[in-house]
Parts: sequence; C-alpha cells; structure tokens
Amino acid sequence: MEMKKEQLQKINGVLSKLKNVKDGFYAKKFADFGFELASQADFEKLPFTDKPELREGYPLGIQAAPDSEIVRIHSSSGTTGLPIIIPYTKKDVADWAIMFARCYEFAGITNLDRIHITPGYGLWTAGIGFQAGAELMGAMAIPMGPGNTDKQIQMMRDLRSTVLCSTSSYALLLAEEIERRGVRNEIHLKKGVIGSERWGEKMRRRIADQLGVKLYDIYGLTEIYGPGIGMSCDYECGMHMWDDYVYFEIINPQTGEVLPDGELGELVITTMCKEGAPLIRYRTHDLTRIIPGVCECGSEYPRIATIIGRSDDMIKVKGINIYPGQIDDVLRQVEGVSSEYQVIIDHLNGRDIMTLLFESELGYSKENLESSVQTFFKAKVGLTVVPKSVAIGELPRSEKKSTRIFDNRY
Ligand code: ZN
Repeated sequence: MEMKKEQLQKINGVLSKLKNVKDGFYAKKFADFGFELASQADFEKLPFTDKPELREGYPLGIQAAPDSEIVRIHSSSGTTGLPIIIPYTKKDVADWAIMFARCYEFAGITNLDRIHITPGYGLWTAGIGFQAGAELMGAMAIPMGPGNTDKQIQMMRDLRSTVLCSTSSYALLLAEEIERRGVRNEIHLKKGVIGSERWGEKMRRRIADQLGVKLYDIYGLTEIYGPGIGMSCDYECGMHMWDDYVYFEIINPQTGEVLPDGELGELVITTMCKEGAPLIRYRTHDLTRIIPGVCECGSEYPRIATIIGRSDDMIKVKGINIYPGQIDDVLRQVEGVSSEYQVIIDHLNGRDIMTLLFESELGYSKENLESSVQTFFKAKVGLTVVPKSVAIGELPRSEKKSTRIFDNRY
C-alpha cells in the first residue's frame, strides 16, 4: 500500500519528538537511522519493534511523554514473561475513544443503543475501551465485565441491551445459555461486536443464529491503544483500519520484506498520533493480508482480512509457509469434514511429507473426502498433502492449537 503524504508527515512528527526523549527507547534504537524520512522507502529501512524489546524496558522504558502528561497505564498479559506496560496521555485516551466510537458507527450502532460490555476491566485494555467509545457516542454503556452468566442474562433482559460486546467464546456461551433457558424472546440484542481470538465461520454462524444478531469483528491490541483500531462493516469483508491513526504494513515474517497488497503475511503497525508510547513498525505477529480495492460500503478506510493466526504458529514445508488458519480454512470448505485435524510432518528420502489427518462425519466416502481435501489443499495452499480421513472422535481433543502439529523433521 502506498504511504499517503499526510501519513509520512505524521510519522516524521512522531520521530522528531522521539528523537528528543532523554534516554528514550527510540532515541537510542534509531540513532543510526535518522529521524527524518524523505519517503516511504526511507521508512521501510527502519528496523521493526518487537515484544521482547518492549519487555526489556519494563516497567516504563517506552514512555515518551513527561510524567505530568501520563494519565493512565494499561498492560498486556504476562503469560510469557513480564507484562508490557503502555502509558497513555489524555490525548491518547481521547483518540482511542474517537476510534472506538467510529467502530460502533461502522456497525450502525447509535446513541439509542444499550451496549452490554462483557470484556474484562482492569490493567488490560478491553472493557474500558468499549465503554469509552460508547459514552463518547452517547449510547448507554452497561459495564458488566466477564462472568456471572445469571446476572448477564438478567441485565440483558431487564435493561434491554441491544449490543453485545464480547469475545467469540463468551458470546457462544451466552448464546447457548439463552437458548437453554428458553429466554430468547426476552432478549433484545441486535448486534454483536466481537473482539480478540480467531474464530471460524461455523462458530460465527452459530452465535449469530442463536442470538439472532448481526456480528461485527473489532481489531486491536494493547500495545496499540487496545481494541478499536479497526472494524468490519455490514459487508463482512475484512476489517476497515483507521489509517489516520495507524499506518500498517504486511511483511514476510521471515525476511521482513514488505509484501504487496493481497499477499498473506504479518501485520506491522506504526502509530501516528500516540504520545505516551508511540510505536514504530511494531510487529503484531497477527497474520492477515491487505484487501485491495474499495469496499462495497463505500468507505475509503483500507481493509485487512480476518486474522488467520499468529506468525509464531507457522510451519514451513517444502519451502511453503503454512498457518493453522489455512488448514482450518481448507477443511471448512469440504462437506463432511469436521473441524478437528492433526498434521504430521516427516522427512523421508530427502523430502518433506505432510500428512493431514482429519475427522469425517458418517455417511461420506473416505476416498472421496481424502481426494477433495488433497485437491483443495493444493489449490489453496500450494502443497500436496497425504490426506487421511478418520472417524469423529478419533483425534485427541486439546485446547492448544500447537499440539495439532507434529513436526518430526528435526
Ligand atoms: Zn466496508
């Protein structure tokens, strides 16, 4: 994607501030690269920023505004080590709310809606972002937070919530619970705004059908404000990204090369307005692609496709990069194949062999399914796999995606 003139100006503005931060993270990191860019090509020479570096600066090493201007912090979860603390200025908090309100507006949500917020409140950025956007727009925020299903359903009924904000798994849980209790007629939800987690089309349909709502995807990450930097529209074709606040690129996760629009790679984001902790070329590790062209909804905000996984989960077979999300994708398209699978990669007689075991429903011919999966996989991913159909329930169940892939080559 071509960098717009205003974007280059904004980024130069950020860099000139970062240059003067005493002992600042970027003042040091970019010392050899300069702080004034003449072109997109200059920008693309800047090194990436990645999570471990931010962690090294724990707790406030990436703060780029004076203490007097910092009004809040958030932090990413510390499941794999120290958390990353992100300081926000008053303007950062305000900008985030503006972007969030724009997300709601893209979903046709108005100040007459009652927004039921189930993501958590606290150090991480979820709940409070949903709330600030709702309040800015003038809608009624119902700050539930997660858990306590009884209370959720009670408030949903009594307050006549019209919008559910949730993770996909919690939305599914609520949908099933509402169905089980037979209270669907007392629920007034019209829309669902679903953030975080990758989720498949099958799950999406179940939630939408059971709740009787239209669903929207919201994108974001704590390091870059939080959820609310991108949102899907009525046409359900990826998520529009607010490119007046964030500049984004898709790179080859191995080489760092910037990829042309339409190609699958890792999303890299640069903040253009952030003051408390600007990030330049931040690697999200989320895999997606830029959708070329203007959306049917008419919005000029560029789009990225639904996130298909994490670059850390990638495997390389016969020189082809494969992501678990692509395997899900292929299997979803073959009728009679369930969503459970296992991949085994071996190296025999000098070549890689990828065996794909998948569960199939009763009443389908094993040979036909195997041949369909092989054809689809070759067409979609470009690799010939050895397909093996097994009965439903034969593959082990695990919550972790990683255990679905067994790489015996090393
Ligand atoms: Zn659109």
